[in-house]
This record gives sequence, structure tokens and C-alpha cells, in this order.
Amino acid sequence: MINTCKILSYCFKSLIFLSVIIANQDWDEVQIESVQLLQKYIQIDSSNPPGDVTEAINWLADLCEKNKISYQTFTVDEDPRRMHLLAEIKGKNSSLKPLLLLNHVDVVPADVDAWSVDPFSGVIKDGIIYGRGALDMKSLGMMQLISLILLKREGWIPERTVKFLAVADEEILGEYGVQWMIKNHWDLLDPEWVWDEGGIGSTDSFPGMDVFAIAVAQKKSFWVELEVNGISGHGSRPFDGYPNQVLATSLSKIVNWETPIEINPVIEEMLFRIGSNKGGIEGFVMKNINNPIIHYLFSNSLSEKSTTVNAMIRNTVSLTKVNSGYKTNIIPEYASAALDIRLLPDTSPESFLLDLKEVVNDDRLEFIPKRVPLNNFISNWDSKFFKVVSNELSEKKPNAVVIPFMTIGGTDSQFFQAKGVDCYGIIPVLVNESDIQTMHGIDERISIQNYMFGIKVAYNSIKKTCEEN
Ligand SMILES: [Zn+2]
Repeated sequence: MINTCKILSYCFKSLIFLSVIIANQDWDEVQIESVQLLQKYIQIDSSNPPGDVTEAINWLADLCEKNKISYQTFTVDEDPRRMHLLAEIKGKNSSLKPLLLLNHVDVVPADVDAWSVDPFSGVIKDGIIYGRGALDMKSLGMMQLISLILLKREGWIPERTVKFLAVADEEILGEYGVQWMIKNHWDLLDPEWVWDEGGIGSTDSFPGMDVFAIAVAQKKSFWVELEVNGISGHGSRPFDGYPNQVLATSLSKIVNWETPIEINPVIEEMLFRIGSNKGGIEGFVMKNINNPIIHYLFSNSLSEKSTTVNAMIRNTVSLTKVNSGYKTNIIPEYASAALDIRLLPDTSPESFLLDLKEVVNDDRLEFIPKRVPLNNFISNWDSKFFKVVSNELSEKKPNAVVIPFMTIGGTDSQFFQAKGVDCYGIIPVLVNESDIQTMHGIDERISIQNYMFGIKVAYNSIKKTCEEN
């Protein structure tokens, strides 16, 4: 009896010991492995164009295989260079929709001559990993997958399923990217929340404070072509209403049109949180920006802060292409232009087009919508996932402010948002503006310290989000 008790007690103590080891990661070991994995991932050139991600997807599949994480890969028949990988750790409760960790495998091309290092070497200098995709977004892909690997090794069985989806073609927002997965395999996805890119932590975007911006909405691309058809003539005898004249007059009205300032709920909340942290008169103005008097007095100065802030608080129109003519002494019979319009989430393309036509006020101009956005969705920042990630970030950086945010560019989240799914975009690192510029730019990089910070945030956030109801 005594012996049995001793043995039991020994086993029990061993079990406790073992579980302590398992629960406490050896982060030094994790760092060695994680850095090597990101370097290797960067070394696989997945530039888009051409957008061949087969090697990268097969490498991710191999990583899942080695770590006994169940996965499947998908090849797009129409273009077999486009592949996707979906991996998962199954939860106990099948009635809960999964958390989906979304990341793209493709990267924008890199001009080798402009870089100070080989963009596909993953070289480390002074504790910083360099390479195309180091921020956008192979690092977040690795943070997500390494978290799953660590959790799998622990024998973790969550309540809620967690899925990892690596896709092709984000950089060209192509139909064979995440749109293809949504169209063909929605039954395998159907998530409760999506964790994607779109926001980041910044040390200097807002002077004097560290801010983690979690994207909950994005502006919508609305592309419109303008056409004028008329009669041609000799350059020596201009006549009233020839196509170039009509187009130039209309374009002048469009580029000088100041669209109204609209502070939507995301920006209102963002300014409220920043203002609360800032204090003083500026903080008071930010916190109360939708008060009619403050809006009237200060919203213009807000728009003058930067082109980014300006783009967050109004619909914008950029004249990006003008085409006409073929010889200096011939008046051409045709003229066209293209507008890149970016709409706030709650502006409908139809109503904006009516406003635009009113500004131009000329029936000779034809408006041809080329890309019409569907999504008008803003994710809920009161959700469990948003709270868990916010708490993780705040715990690790107590002085930082976490804000909901609207991206002015587009990410793959828009296709999930179009289906009504709450999506959150955050690369959990704290960088400065010049680091952010390297995304799609030169010498893209991430420090090992930031990368490990992100892995820990991802590991804890995934665990806490999926562990209980
Ligand atoms: Zn990206």
C-alpha cells in the first residue's frame, strides 16, 4: 500500500513536472527554430508576378507533416502555379465556428539592384532579418504557424477549432487567390473570426505614443473610366466641344472637388482612444471630433495632418490615367481617363457616382464603372478575439494604445468581410515609419526581437481565443 502510494505520488509529481515543462516554452529554443524557419521561407522566391507559390506551399505542407498537423493543399486547375494550404487543430466543440489565421504566401517583386542585401537571402544583420516578405507577410504567416506547431507539440486540444489558411495571389487581389478558396471551399472555412494583415504597431505614427492599430475596416476600391466620343478635326481649327476639351474641363472639376469629411465609427473610436491617451486640448478635440461645433472648427485641420489621415476621413478620387490623341495637329475623336476612387466603408458606389456626375454636370461624358466594391462591412471591435489580442498587446506593452483602425489599402479580408465575417488585421510588432516603408519597398526587414514578440502574442492569443467558450 505504502509502495503503491509512493509510486502514485512519484508519478503524480512527474506529471506535474512534465506539464510545467510543456506549458512553459523554452523561448530561446523556439527563437532558434523560428528564425531559421522565417529565413528559409524568405529564401523561397514567391514574387507575384509571376506568382508561382508551389514551392512555398509544398514547404509549408512539409512543415505541417513533420509536426503532425493535419492539412490539405489545393491547386487551381486554371493555373496550377496558384496553390493554397489549409491546416487545422480540431476543437472539441464542433458547434463553434473556427478562428481562421489568414496569410498570403506571395510577395511583391524586389529590385535586387536597389537593395543593400539579396532580397531572397533572409540574411541577418545586427539582429534584424532582411528579405522580401519579412513584414508583408511571411513573418505573420510564420507567427501563426509556429504557434500552431508549439500548441500541437503540447498536445493542446482546444474547445474551438483553429485553422491556418495560406493563400496565393493576394498581391494582385487575384481571382485565384483567397476568392477562389471562398468560392470553391467555403464549407471548409466558414470562420467566426479572421486574423489577417492590415494593421501594425507603430512607434512614431502618432507622436509621443506607441500605437497598435488593428484593422477592422478598409476603404473600398471603386474604379471608373471616363469616355468622351465626338468628331475629329484639324488642329488649326479648334471647335467648341471637341472630346479633349470636354474631358479636360470635366477632369479639372473632378480633381478640384473637395469631398466632404465624414468621421465614421471606426475613426471616431480610433481618435477617441488616441485623444484619451494624449490629453490636453488636442486630445479633447480628438475625443469629441463628431461634436458638430468641434467638427466644424477642427475637422479641416485634421485632414491637413497627413495624406493618410485625409484618406481616412473622406472619399478620395485620384486621376490615374489620361489617354487621347496620336498626332499634334489632329484633334482626336475620342478621349478617356481613369479614376481610382476609394470609398469609405459606408458609402455606396451608386450614390457616389451620382455625386460625381453632379460635380461634372456634362452629359457628353460617359462614366463606366470597372471595379465595383461589394463590401461595406465594419468588424465588431467588441468581440472576444479583438479583446484577447488587445489584452495580449497591452500586457506586453503597457504604455501602448490599442485602437481599431481602417486601412486605406485593400487586403484579402475584404472577401471575408463581404460574407459578413469579422476580420482583424494586425501584424503584432512595434516598428517605426521607415520600417513600414520597406513593405513593398527596399530592404524590407523585421528585428528578431519584434518577430519573437509577435510569436508570443500569436501563441497566447490563439490559445486564449480557442481554449474556452
Ligand atoms: Zn500583404
